[in-house]
Amino acid sequence: MPRTLDPELRRALAERVRYCQEMGVYDFYRREGAGVETLSLTSQLELREEMAARKSAVAAPGVLGDLVTIASNPERGIADPAAALKLIREDLGECTRCKLHQGRNQIVFGVGNPHAELMFVGEGPGADEDAQGEPFVGRAGQLLNNMIKAMGLRREDVYIANIVKCRPPGNRQPERDECETCSPFLMRQIAAIKPKVMVALGATAAKNLLAINAPMMELRGRWYDFKPAGSDPSWLGARLAVTYHPAFLLRDPRQKGEAWKDLQMVMKYLGIEPPKKPNE
Ligand code: SF4
Repeated sequence: MPRTLDPELRRALAERVRYCQEMGVYDFYRREGAGVETLSLTSQLELREEMAARKSAVAAPGVLGDLVTIASNPERGIADPAAALKLIREDLGECTRCKLHQGRNQIVFGVGNPHAELMFVGEGPGADEDAQGEPFVGRAGQLLNNMIKAMGLRREDVYIANIVKCRPPGNRQPERDECETCSPFLMRQIAAIKPKVMVALGATAAKNLLAINAPMMELRGRWYDFKPAGSDPSWLGARLAVTYHPAFLLRDPRQKGEAWKDLQMVMKYLGIEPPKKPNE
């Protein structure tokens, strides 16, 4: 017999669903015979209202069978990446989800072509990025621009984002809880853009994207398959390469040749010819 859900349990369930949504989990299935109570229609509607109040859309369970589908993110089903990115930015709002909001001047959401085939992902904003609200605009950004140009592309052709969107104090590395709180929004950006290739800039970006704890030497020089959970099933996902962070290359320019090898691997996959030098 269906029964009304205890309000405290309903609140906890709604909270759990919100957490899962932010982690990129959108679809939920009820396990057969697991002792789960069927929600009454009243409970479904109450839960739906509660989630709507949290700016999420819920397809309530039960009425159409046992499959419980929760279509949460407002950009889901929007084919235009620019429109989807706009909705994700709106959903992020003036975010205070992690402690990095305390020291920031601006959220650094991401910049570039919403239809980009190539996406770069760095670690987090620095002082210049925090001041301007755009990723990779300081000295490291200049070097990244030069790397993009050397590939025969323009900054406007690619999309650039970071694992965390607020500047860590003193340019320290973002902490695990900060990365875990912020990265679901990055996953949604990636799912909206559907790039062919992603390049993780530096170990922090690589480790967070790939959930692999390995030194750069082992991470570089190979391809990884990457597809955020809950993204369009018709999209095969991106290929992901790892290279050095431009800030590291500024400190150790001897590694630029190695970074160029990584970018050449990307260019070969994308079928990009490097621009010819004037005397060639
Ligand atoms: Fe929100 Fe991300 Fe900024 Fe943390 S780093 S406050 S999760 S936007």
